[in-house]
Amino acid sequence: MSTQEGVIKYQCDFTPAPPLSYEALRELNAWRRLMFITHLIGQDPNRYGGYGYGNISRRLDAAEGADGQHPFIITGSQTGGKPELGPEDYVVVTACYPDENRLTARGPIKPSSESLTHGAVYALDSRILWVVHAHSPEIWHNAEKLGVPITANVPYGSPEMAAEVRRLFVESDLPQKRIFAMAGHEDGVVTFGHTAEEACFTMLSYLVRALQINERNN
Ligand SMILES: [Zn+2]
Repeated sequence: MSTQEGVIKYQCDFTPAPPLSYEALRELNAWRRLMFITHLIGQDPNRYGGYGYGNISRRLDAAEGADGQHPFIITGSQTGGKPELGPEDYVVVTACYPDENRLTARGPIKPSSESLTHGAVYALDSRILWVVHAHSPEIWHNAEKLGVPITANVPYGSPEMAAEVRRLFVESDLPQKRIFAMAGHEDGVVTFGHTAEEACFTMLSYLVRALQINERNN
């Protein structure tokens, strides 16, 4: 069973606040645009009940907060279908507690419930500064052939998903590959890195490999 996009089932302590400056978002927004062009982030009436899908985030600062938290900037809930985003479409997750299904956020728009999975990835390693969650039928269906680590079949944005991410980081070659597929979340794939290039090019390179497998099978 796959879980549906867009269904917010987590606890979000949200404080409305003005948007960040465009300057603070410029790099993130450009990479998000590339993910949209390649349909790794988007919205399609024929997929996932028509909900927007995918999101991208970066840490607000490279340094960890004094409270051990890792604030990050992420695209807002249900922005997947918008070709161009502005500052009003981004929100700061100030604290994230994936094991309690809970986060706090500030900004002009609420964060996606998938922010909990981003938070779980940032908590793995302080060198991880970028996270992308995309939907790729090509990578997801070929995950095993591609050697992509795969989570157990657990719901996205859940404490179980956070535990699965930690398990894969220890038990698989996830730290080197920087990509995993979410078995319980149709087409769901996550990549991460120290830089945007590491996170986004990892996604694109696996997409290209998956397309070659599909090509062979046609
Ligand atoms: Zn998703």
